[in-house]
Amino acid sequence: MQPLIDNARTFGQRPEEFARLAEGQSPDVLFITCSDSRVVPALITGARPGELFELRTAGNIVPPYTPGRPTSEAATVEYAVGVLGVTDIVVCGHSHCGAVGALVRGDDLDAVPAVRDWLAHAADEPAPADAADPACAEAVQHHVLAQLLRLRSYPCVERRLASGRLRLRGWYYEVHTGAVREHRADTDSFETL
Ligand SMILES: [Zn+2]
Repeated sequence: MQPLIDNARTFGQRPEEFARLAEGQSPDVLFITCSDSRVVPALITGARPGELFELRTAGNIVPPYTPGRPTSEAATVEYAVGVLGVTDIVVCGHSHCGAVGALVRGDDLDAVPAVRDWLAHAADEPAPADAADPACAEAVQHHVLAQLLRLRSYPCVERRLASGRLRLRGWYYEVHTGAVREHRADTDSFETL
């Protein structure tokens, strides 16, 4: 922890760079990814402060939209789409994802009931079994597409998609190489950016 504190102590020494951020934010992208510490959206994309609106959840899961039962995830998506007017939403899954791995292996998660119950939101269908692959590539990619489908059921997203002012993107990030693949609708496969 101490190196992180040391860096934070000296971080605010760039007033010129950050002064304009007080005027507000107008990011073009909502970036939804896993809480995993190996996934660093700004590092992957080169985004500067103000350029990425982020939603991080365990396993980059987008929970079902439930009217009358607000969630932090729904509030974040709604604010990004309805107020900030982002043009793109990226759902970025990653290799070696602990959440997806637990689903693939069918791990007993009774000792962490909040995790167990959260993962129940993962998808309507179980991920394909590729337990032999430690990266869980196929399962993660399948999982990303399931979250994109879930996003489409959010009313604000549905409306914005219908008006042609929003694009949904599925990414797969390899934590061990840094490579990023994007889902292509025409080939229904994840291909190098
Ligand atoms: Zn993960």
